[in-house]
Amino acid sequence: MNPLLQSYNTAPFSKIENKHFLPAITKLIEETKAEIDAITSNSDAPTFENTIEALEFSGEKLDRATSIFFNLNSAETNDEIQKLAQEISPMLTEFGNDMLLNEALFERVKAVYNQKDTLDLNEEQQMLLDKKYKGFSRNGANLSEEKKKQLRKIDTELSKLKLTFGENVLAETNKFELHITDEKDLSGLPEGVIEAASQTAEEKGKEGWVFTLDYPSYVPFLTYADNRELRKKMAIAFGAKGFNNDEFDNQKNVLQIAQLRHKRANLLGYKSHAQFVLEERMAETPEKVKTFLNELLEKAKPAAKKEFEELTAFAKELDEIDHLEKWDGAYYSEKLKQKLFNLDDEKLKPYFELKNVINGVFTVAQKLYGLHFKEVQNIDKYHPEVKTYEVKDDEGELVALFYADFHPRAGKRNGAWMTSYKPQQTKNGTNDRPHVSIVCNFTKPTASKPSLLTFNEVTTLFHEFGHALHGMLANTQYPSLSGTSVYWDFVELPSQILENWCYEKETLELFATHYKTGEVIPMEYVEKIKESATFLEGMATLRQLSFGMLDMAWHSQDPSGINEVKAFEVAAFEDTQLYPDVKENCMSTSFSHIFQGGYSAGYYSYKWAEVLDADAFAYFQQEGIFSKKVADKFKNFVLSQGGTMDPMELYIKFRGQKPDPEALLKRAGLLK
Ligand SMILES: [Zn+2]
Repeated sequence: MNPLLQSYNTAPFSKIENKHFLPAITKLIEETKAEIDAITSNSDAPTFENTIEALEFSGEKLDRATSIFFNLNSAETNDEIQKLAQEISPMLTEFGNDMLLNEALFERVKAVYNQKDTLDLNEEQQMLLDKKYKGFSRNGANLSEEKKKQLRKIDTELSKLKLTFGENVLAETNKFELHITDEKDLSGLPEGVIEAASQTAEEKGKEGWVFTLDYPSYVPFLTYADNRELRKKMAIAFGAKGFNNDEFDNQKNVLQIAQLRHKRANLLGYKSHAQFVLEERMAETPEKVKTFLNELLEKAKPAAKKEFEELTAFAKELDEIDHLEKWDGAYYSEKLKQKLFNLDDEKLKPYFELKNVINGVFTVAQKLYGLHFKEVQNIDKYHPEVKTYEVKDDEGELVALFYADFHPRAGKRNGAWMTSYKPQQTKNGTNDRPHVSIVCNFTKPTASKPSLLTFNEVTTLFHEFGHALHGMLANTQYPSLSGTSVYWDFVELPSQILENWCYEKETLELFATHYKTGEVIPMEYVEKIKESATFLEGMATLRQLSFGMLDMAWHSQDPSGINEVKAFEVAAFEDTQLYPDVKENCMSTSFSHIFQGGYSAGYYSYKWAEVLDADAFAYFQQEGIFSKKVADKFKNFVLSQGGTMDPMELYIKFRGQKPDPEALLKRAGLLK
């Protein structure tokens, strides 16, 4: 029996073996095709119900099986799953294209779309109809047969290239290790970091200490290791991922991806990939994005330059370093921060035991939205480290199931993300509650210490949890408009806004207690966390803008003339770089967000969402950060609404006005 073909509520991880994926997905594609055939062969005239809704609710089992598969490929993968993905991804792309290029189906959708003004649809239904129609038109439904064929070929190639890109980055991350055998080379590193490195060495059957390119190993090394040569070695290895002229090199993949995207956009009648993408964004056009980024650059650059000069002077004074290099940035920033605020991560970490931070974020969710989390043991998991929770509201009604997977493993990709195993939807009068998950790479517990988070990890947890709330509180009718299914430049509002609570005394008092003594975090630390939050903010802003600009450079023009990835990148970075270029390094070849994930022509959306979140949080601050009134509005007009309405409309309903960028500049200390 193939568990993916049975009916199940929670994902049946313990029953699933790798051999089940391919036959199940093949079969479920066939079943979905039959559902689509039933729609197109219906002899009744096309209606919203028999066409648009029927289409929306088709392929449910297939969606669940593929989300299990791809979630595992990110969080718990192995060679076999990666190989399967190379087979399954093109299959799904082909199936998706078959559906979107299905003329009989498009005819019916178009027929309904053409009568939309006479159908008496509610707002969510109108949105669904628009989305379904655009889904076809933006995928070539109005193209000639010949052009349709070209489009399908491009999509298949792109899906393979993106997978290969990601696998190369993972392979390069796992390939490198810094093996230290001389204790002197550990100078400056905190005890916990050294202990973790010794554990890694032991796992690899080695003497001494091993550091890797996984963030919990890499970031502290760059921040604390006194040995500048070794920092350089680590930084260069990190920055050279996909740029080593070896079997895992991504330069050709980058060029090919950019070119194929451009060709695809042209085929559909758009000037560039960015123009195509931004048609369905709050920002609307490449010009608006560029103006937005340039305006922020203008405000941030003077501050960034000044900060860089200060940092350079500080490094000179401390270690007689004349020119700051990229591998010096984190190190001297931390030292300067200590000098100015006398506050380092190691001092704060004892107050951020993972267990307490989790309780903290749950308490925040309870105070704002009346949610109650209870850890349960009866839900099947894909790894023993995964935690599972039942989420209920004040009335004891089930709101969602929540999976949380906190620590790095060899089969997990870097970073932190939210995903889901089952979407929220209302079908036949039943409100089906979602199964939401977050996956992180937080510092592991060691033999002598529980998992103690850096403040950055604390805000990351709040961030991903913010996405999770968007998923958990979803309350719509249609799954494709539910939860985080919103425009990309709106999707970071619920996550980024939640980070604001981490800086508030009222919140920290709830959970930031010393893991040994239980003492609440001293108020002077809280003050300093707040003060230091905008420390080197100009430089940080410039860095984010540089990524957004690199992304726009790759995607808002014809890339066919680009031969050298590195040279192109250096030119794109020209206005935003403070450090000297490192010739061995290339950002684009491991820029997974835009070449593997879905952030192409969308990286700007982090800053865009910051404008939204700063403005929205200013509203909370004005009424009290746990104000029930503001929280209710945020829940009712933003978190529960998903993509059922234009995001600007939703925002105005919540806030009473459009977002004002001043709130961000003020918070960042860039408005003098
Ligand atoms: Zn996010």
